[in-house]
Amino acid sequence: MIKSLCEVESEETVQRGYRTKAKDEIMSYILSNKHRRVSASEIYEHIKNSGKHTNLTTVYRNLDKLTEAGVILKIKNSSDDYSVYQLLDPDGGCDEHLHIQCRGCGHVYHLEGEAMDKINACLLEECGYSIICSDSFLLGYCSSCRKDKDLPEKH
Ligand SMILES: [Zn+2]
Ligand SMILES: [Zn+2]
Repeated sequence: MIKSLCEVESEETVQRGYRTKAKDEIMSYILSNKHRRVSASEIYEHIKNSGKHTNLTTVYRNLDKLTEAGVILKIKNSSDDYSVYQLLDPDGGCDEHLHIQCRGCGHVYHLEGEAMDKINACLLEECGYSIICSDSFLLGYCSSCRKDKDLPEKH
């Protein structure tokens, strides 16, 4: 059924199909590498090597869309202009807790369990707000980057 529909697609829809396909390829690559951060050029190389047609601009555009949708987290290294991407896994509860990203090395920490309960309780008491975790993330410096930068352990 699906195959016969594809066969009668006009040229325009075939082109649109390419875009959808690129997104699927990108998602499957991110999913199969969900425990590490991946770069746009790495994804592009992967799609190209599997014999499919895409370009780096398409990869970037799709990654931006996935970032906006909260599916992945775009991690920018402050030292250079190089971004990497990491899957935010709803099955792993990523839409129910906050993430803090190190501005030095880009490492993302998942604030789970008790820490999250404390933050929620604190904000609720302080100002009556509740957090939409899937849309928020914090920036900071991890312990090893703090050591490198000689930043104080605590305020
Ligand atoms: Zn998470
Ligand atoms: Zn760091």
